[in-house]
Amino acid sequence: MAKAALVIGSRGQDGQLLGGYLSGKSYSVTGLHRQSPVSLLDFEEVRRLIRSVLPDEIYYLAAYHHSSEEAMPDHSLLWRKSREIHIDGLAHVLDAVVLEKPTARVFYASSSLIFSQGNEEGLSEDSPPDPSTAYGLSKLMGMQMIEYFRKHKGVFAGAGILFNHESEFRSEHFLSMKLVRAALKAQKGESPRIKIGDPTARVDWGYAGDYVKAMHLMLTADQPDDFVIATGQLRSVEDLAGTAFTKLGLDWRDFISVDTSLLSRRFLPRRGNPRKIAETLGWKPETGFEQMIEKMLSFHGGRIDPREK
Ligand code: NDP
Repeated sequence: MAKAALVIGSRGQDGQLLGGYLSGKSYSVTGLHRQSPVSLLDFEEVRRLIRSVLPDEIYYLAAYHHSSEEAMPDHSLLWRKSREIHIDGLAHVLDAVVLEKPTARVFYASSSLIFSQGNEEGLSEDSPPDPSTAYGLSKLMGMQMIEYFRKHKGVFAGAGILFNHESEFRSEHFLSMKLVRAALKAQKGESPRIKIGDPTARVDWGYAGDYVKAMHLMLTADQPDDFVIATGQLRSVEDLAGTAFTKLGLDWRDFISVDTSLLSRRFLPRRGNPRKIAETLGWKPETGFEQMIEKMLSFHGGRIDPREK
């Protein structure tokens, strides 16, 4: 019989890619998104959903990002919404699993933002967390709940400590897609004008299609555990802009200006150390940085310069 998966946050970048990946593996996939009739914040609704879907695997990808809102909310609103989506909704799902489908396996999308900065050897599952944002703190608390249900309630639950990952489905609120969209506009003869703070800032950037495969591997493993999902490689914002524009036969410096007033405090960049997931589950990123940017451009109609293919 086909396995049943419940993807929570199914209309986001990872939700779309994961839904497609699981459907390709003959899963029956149910998606939950903000417009669904079931609210994550209502325990009885979540419980009824779990009872009706009886999922074998649950992927908890729902997230609250302030960047996807129109205006920057104040800290108390940011913190309340982060708690609701990253902690309370997850608690409802885990409690409903215990009551309705104790064999369901649960993946939780945590974040590299449980760390405030990087270290020399690469951040691993053993690096001490030190969140400096409401988002990072709430993700850390979600991870602790996952560990509690794994150790003390017998649930097969694991958290992925996800480093940045991008794809053709990335929203324009994020820098990578802003730069890709700017390159696409420039190719159409428009004059996108965007400002970046620090072109030398470096990020551990992977392709989201590879990361959803890691999530699936985690839930089909012999044992539940938490894993860093990262490339272990840092690339600069300038690399990303340069690659996107060069692939379309353009020079990023003609379109993007640097505004040092946007500069944020300098920390050691967050680089992940994916050794544990490589050694335990055999996962490694398959899509390179350039290939990822090419996918983002091509999907949105960019014509790749034949010299750059
Ligand atoms: P997205 O923002 O693209 O997707 C998150 C989805 O959650 C959105 O589609 C959003 O819906 C949905 N959502 C928000 N609130 C609710 C709700 N109440 N009920 C149901 N769905 C809801 O994120 P990604 O796909 O990029 O990331 C997936 C997960 O991985 C997230 O939890 C994110 O925090 C985490 N992560 C991602 C990283 C990355 O680089 N992509 C890095 C580190 C962690 P709507 O579309 O309506 O807003």
